[in-house]
This record gives sequence, C-alpha cells and structure tokens, in this order.
Amino acid sequence: MTTIAAAVTAIQCGPVPYRDEFVVHHGGAYVVPGRRAVAGEWLYPCPEQCQDDGLLGIWIGPDDEPERQVLICPSCGLDCT
Ligand SMILES: [Zn+2]
Repeated sequence: MTTIAAAVTAIQCGPVPYRDEFVVHHGGAYVVPGRRAVAGEWLYPCPEQCQDDGLLGIWIGPDDEPERQVLICPSCGLDCT
C-alpha cells in the first residue's frame, strides 16, 4: 500500500510526521488522550471515521532503532504505540 510505504519512508528519514490534531476516538472506540495520527493518505480520512477493528496494527520505523518504531493502524495512521 503506497500510503504505508510513504509513512515508512518518512519515518526512516526523520521524525514521525504527525498531524496536529489530537485523536478523539478510533471509529467510536476509546483512544488514550493525546494520541495523534501519522499524516498521510489513508483508507479513512481520520481515525474518528476509521472502520478498522484495530486488531491488525503494523510496526513502522527503522529496524535498527526500535525506540523510533511506532505501531499504527494501517487504515487511518493512528499511532497506537
Ligand atoms: Zn484506524
């Protein structure tokens, strides 16, 4: 998926490109306050409209720098780390 590829590339090169807005909820499901989504063209325009069940997060980031890896929802870019 090109959106994930773009996010992976961005994270390899520098800080995670987060959106400014804090996420209120994830498709109606509770989200820890202060979480944000990685900027990008995701399947859903924002976590609040995401229909992903959230069970299939993916880790992105540099393989050799685990502290810089983040767990995101592949459908909206929500950072679930
Ligand atoms: Zn999502």
